[in-house]
Amino acid sequence: MKKLNILANDGIAASARMQLEKEGHRVFTEKVEQERLADFINENNIQVLVVRSATKVRKDLLDKVKPLGLIIRAGVGLDNIDTDYAAQKGITVQNTPGASSHSVAELVMAHLLGGVRFLHQSNREMPLRGDTDFKALKKAYSGGTEVKGKTLGIIGFGRIGRELAKMAIGLEMKVLAYDPFIDEAELRLIFFDGQSAGFRIKTVTKEEVLKNADFISLHVPAQKEPVIGPKEMEIMKPGAAIINAARGGVVDETALIKALDEGKLSFAALDVFADEPTPPVRLLMHPKLSLTPHTGASTREAQERIGKEIVNKIKDFAS
Ligand code: NAD
Repeated sequence: MKKLNILANDGIAASARMQLEKEGHRVFTEKVEQERLADFINENNIQVLVVRSATKVRKDLLDKVKPLGLIIRAGVGLDNIDTDYAAQKGITVQNTPGASSHSVAELVMAHLLGGVRFLHQSNREMPLRGDTDFKALKKAYSGGTEVKGKTLGIIGFGRIGRELAKMAIGLEMKVLAYDPFIDEAELRLIFFDGQSAGFRIKTVTKEEVLKNADFISLHVPAQKEPVIGPKEMEIMKPGAAIINAARGGVVDETALIKALDEGKLSFAALDVFADEPTPPVRLLMHPKLSLTPHTGASTREAQERIGKEIVNKIKDFAS
C-alpha cells in the first residue's frame, strides 16, 4: 500500500485522522488559505485533498497542482469543485453522499419545530426582556401550532428528502413530495425495539406541493435558477413556511424577505445562503427567520461516518 500525503483542508474527524496515520499516511489538517493552497500542495507533495464546502477547487488551482491524484468532498454537494476539469486532468473526485442525510434532516426538523413555536424569536427576546416583560413575551409567543396533522412539502426526494419524510411520518404529519426524477419511494422506518414499518410515497407535481403544503423544505442540488421564487410563493398557502438546508439560491432570498414582510409566509429557516460566508444583514436580522450557519451535516455522528468513508476511499486509492 502506498503511503500518501493528505491535506484535510476543512478538517476531518479525529478518529479518521488517527486511522489514516496508523496506516502510515501523513495527514495535514492546518487550514491553508485559498491563495496559498496550490503552493502548499506542491511543496508538501499532497496526493489527496479532502475538502468540505469552504475550500474551492477551481480550474486555476487544478492547473497548478502537480502531485494531486484524488479529491474527496467530505459531504454531498460538489458545486465547490470543477469536477469535469479535474477528470480531464486525471484527478479522481469522490464525495460521501449518504453519511450526513440524517443529520441534515434532523436540523430541518429542529427549524420546523422551533418555527411553529416561535423559538427563533423568543430566543432573541428572552435574554433582553425576559425579566422585565415576561407576560408580554408570553402573550407574543403564544398561539403557535402543532405539526401533527399538517402537511410537509418536500421538494427533492433523494436521500435527505426521504430521511425527512420518515421523521415527518413519525410525527404524524402528511407528506407531499415533488421530484421530477422520482415517481415513488419506499421508506422504511426502523424503531428502537427492532420493529419496522414500510411506507410508500408517490410523488406529486410541484404545483400540488406548493398549493397544499403548510411547510416546504427543499432538498435539491445547487440550481442555476431558484426553485422557489416570487411566482411559487404566490401559489403557496397563506401563512406557510419555507426551510432551505439545500444550497444557497434555491430559494430567491429577496422574494423570501418580501413574502415574510407582507405576511404571506409566517416564518422561514435558512441553513444555506446565496452569499456564503457573508450573508446579508437583512437576512441575519430578520425576526421571522430561523438561522444556522450551514451546520446541517455538522454533527459528531455525521462527521464520524464521513471520516470512515474517507478512510475507505483513501485505502482503495492507496492500494
Ligand atoms: P440527492 O442527490 O440524494 O437528492 C437530490 C434530489 O433532488 C434528487 O432525487 C433529484 O432528482 C432532485 N432534484 C434535482 N433537481 C430538482 C428540482 N429542480 N426540483 C425537484 N427535485 C430536484 O441529494 P441529497 O443527499 O438528498 O442532498 C440534497 C441537497 O442537500 C444537496 O444540495 C446538498 O448539497 C445539500 N446538503 C446540504 C447540507 C447542509 O449542511 N445543509 C449537507 C448535505 C447536503
